[in-house]
Amino acid sequence: MRIDLHEIINVPGGTVSFDYEPDVSHLDFYSVKEVIEPLRARGHVRNNAGVLVLKAEASTKLRCACDRCAEEYEHAVRLDIEAVLADKLHDEDNPDIYLLDGDYADLDEIIITAYVLEMDAKFLCKPDCKGLCPKCGRNLNKAPCSCKGEINPQLAVLEQLLTDK
Ligand SMILES: [Zn+2]
Ligand SMILES: [Zn+2]
Repeated sequence: MRIDLHEIINVPGGTVSFDYEPDVSHLDFYSVKEVIEPLRARGHVRNNAGVLVLKAEASTKLRCACDRCAEEYEHAVRLDIEAVLADKLHDEDNPDIYLLDGDYADLDEIIITAYVLEMDAKFLCKPDCKGLCPKCGRNLNKAPCSCKGEINPQLAVLEQLLTDK
């Protein structure tokens, strides 16, 4: 979506709000199995003393397959996006500056770029997912397996203490 900023472009203090669902259906992420709630972006562009600053919050809910154990789980994504909109790039190295197209800004480019960067992360059912045993393939979150050699050293010490009794 393109947003028309002509009402605020020369009006310090002016604000234009938006609330829409960017279309990301053309993006395919291997770990995403189902979209439970579509991506929705809410925010505004404000003229801060002549500088156009965009602030947005975007969220979606997905059913994903865990990268470690392959179990499906609900993955909530929440993005806080902040960008500066300018008519030319003063600092080419700053990735948070986006070019205006006349009085318009390309909201999709900003929101979808942030979304794609976020989706670069690992998909884990929980931060400490134990994954699958490389020997027997058992899901170690559900129960430990009895494969030898894969034992956590701390647990091994504990096991030793217990068997010594
Ligand atoms: Zn997992
Ligand atoms: Zn095992």
